[in-house]
Amino acid sequence: MGYERGVQELGDGCVAWLQPDGSWGWSNAGLIVGDGVSLLVDTLFDLRLTGEMLEGLARYTAVAPIGTLVNTHANGDHCYGNQLVQGAEIVASEAAKEEMGEVPPSMMAALNSAEGELGELFRGFFGDFQFDGIEMALPTRTFTGRLDLEVGGKPVELLEVGPAHTKGDVLVHSPTDRTVFTGDILFIGGTPIVWAGPLDNWVAACDLLLGLDVDHVVPGHGPVTDKAGVAEVRDYLTFVQREATTRHDAGMDPWEAARDIALGEYRGWLDYGRLAVNVEAVYRDLDGARKGTGVVELFKRMAALEED
Ligand SMILES: [Zn+2]
Repeated sequence: MGYERGVQELGDGCVAWLQPDGSWGWSNAGLIVGDGVSLLVDTLFDLRLTGEMLEGLARYTAVAPIGTLVNTHANGDHCYGNQLVQGAEIVASEAAKEEMGEVPPSMMAALNSAEGELGELFRGFFGDFQFDGIEMALPTRTFTGRLDLEVGGKPVELLEVGPAHTKGDVLVHSPTDRTVFTGDILFIGGTPIVWAGPLDNWVAACDLLLGLDVDHVVPGHGPVTDKAGVAEVRDYLTFVQREATTRHDAGMDPWEAARDIALGEYRGWLDYGRLAVNVEAVYRDLDGARKGTGVVELFKRMAALEED
């Protein structure tokens, strides 16, 4: 299956919106089309990209307007475009809604236009996006655990699996379409990033995905996949957990450990420097009281790992 920008149809009445190459900020979204109404899974990182997507989806939404928008989690590349989906109920986990306040678009705009080394660092990751003028539209309905919706005759299951990638990750499962939208529980062809953890929760989310009766698995970043793609992400997470734990027990600090781990085949994945953040997550889990490393320092480390 190709990996092109825009619509990829997944059978009748279910669509993925893809943004190659899936690196920083280049996220996917999706549309579950029911009888006379549809459900949008996620918006994109800025208003321009989200507007283009809504135009690209108009051929479906003209007859089945978006009644519900689900944000799979709090990262801006999945919710900063919310304000353009007018009149829809916006659903997220309670934890995701809380986390949405932590990194407002104005903070990203300020970092992207900062002078000196800091601005240069952030533009290296997020310079393609326009964060000015975004008014964050927050979820209007929240839940914990599980929420069952109906979209024009189709059942849709929202399954909370966080904290894992973030504090409130949610999977969106459409049994009728044999499809699941995973948000950032899956990065395909790119490296997962564990902002929250613990990794055990994320591995459990992969196991839940492996147990679903689905044909199409739409990741938060990267091309549409199937259960083989889920298994690869699960393998990466258990690899990081094992390698980081060994080095923790040997007395290395997390940054030493991240530089010491040989990634092997995973060095071929996009953004492999995210290992620095993932090792940090393992250490946080092992040492409950550990003071975390600041986010600017973490971005520096990710960039440094990929320079070696
Ligand atoms: Zn994302």
